[in-house]
Amino acid sequence: MKDVAVIVEIIESTIQDISYELLGKAKELASQTGGKAVAIAMGNKVDVSSLPCDTVYYIEDDALENFCSLHVKVLSKIVQEVNPKVILAGNTSIGTDLAGHIAVELNIPVASLCNKVSVNENVRATSLAYGGKLLVDLELKERGVILANRGSFTAATEGSPEVKKLSLSDIGIEADNEIEFIDYIKPEEDVDISKFDVLVSVGRGIGGEENIDDAKELAELLGGEISSSRPVVDSEWLPKSRQVGRSGKTVTPNLYLALGISGASEHLEGVKAKNVIAINTDPDAPIFRVSRIGAVIDIFDVIPVLIDKIKEIKD
Ligand SMILES: Cc1cc2nc3c(=O)[nH]c(=O)nc-3n(C[C@H](O)[C@H](O)[C@H](O)COP(=O)(O)OP(=O)(O)OC[C@H]3O[C@@H](n4cnc5c(N)ncnc54)[C@H](O)[C@@H]3O)c2cc1C
Repeated sequence: MKDVAVIVEIIESTIQDISYELLGKAKELASQTGGKAVAIAMGNKVDVSSLPCDTVYYIEDDALENFCSLHVKVLSKIVQEVNPKVILAGNTSIGTDLAGHIAVELNIPVASLCNKVSVNENVRATSLAYGGKLLVDLELKERGVILANRGSFTAATEGSPEVKKLSLSDIGIEADNEIEFIDYIKPEEDVDISKFDVLVSVGRGIGGEENIDDAKELAELLGGEISSSRPVVDSEWLPKSRQVGRSGKTVTPNLYLALGISGASEHLEGVKAKNVIAINTDPDAPIFRVSRIGAVIDIFDVIPVLIDKIKEIKD
């Protein structure tokens, strides 16, 4: 029981980014346990040949193309065969669904909302409770399932694993779904802010829709996109697709420029940036606690100067 397993998340035959982050961590943990990093992928026509791990169990069938109850049955079977010390899954709707079932099936604990995990005799993890207001250190006796937040671990890129491709009949499972997949309802999105390296994010301090164009121009000049806190979306100054935080998106940019954002825990839950630069008139604003650079100044004094300076440098 030394291996570290990852439940690979696949939507419409595409491996989701979170899986690469989990595999990055799995490789690190496996080197400590002396076991293997094992990916478990279930789908149809998915290219798993370069997943960054030692072994991939790939169970392929038409019936596994979309997430359904069959995935639970397949996963239970494979997990029992692999017998891992720890199972990593994304703290996503698919990950939480699968993890709960597996935990019950194997009678092992599950820890959700984790941003740290280590393995010794037992499995240790840190969970972000109450919207990140509390960091809870947990110890899971012997083994367990860890649901990790996006942006918690460094993604591994490519590997050349041993691929064990199996069909449903190979593992003695019939394709009778108790829960039938009907459709994916995709969010209407003009842009996916989670994919950008630079985000200029505006909060209530931006004051109104009429002021957002300047922030957009700044974002464009920096080669990034505009994002926001929730009040900006609630006020319909920007669409929901731009919202960062607990009820919005988790973002992992290199630079997160926070303009007039206080830094409430529900907002910061979604900010996994390498560098946060905050501009706020309130020196006690919590955003400064997570900022690499902070400036206590009116954003309306700063934005035009930044725009001019960047244009000057670019010219
Ligand atoms: C269940 C739940 C889920 C939530 N989900 C989210 C979420 O996903 N994302 C999210 O963002 N919030 C979320 N919230 C709301 C969250 O609690 C905060 O209310 C919100 O993040 C505050 O947004 P803000 O920082 O823009 O506004 P405020 O907290 O009002 O802060 C505005 C800031 O702007 C500064 N300011 C004002 N004028 C200027 C100026 N001219 N120049 C410089 N600074 C200025 C002020 O000093 C202040 O710090 C959620 C809340 C709950 C209960």
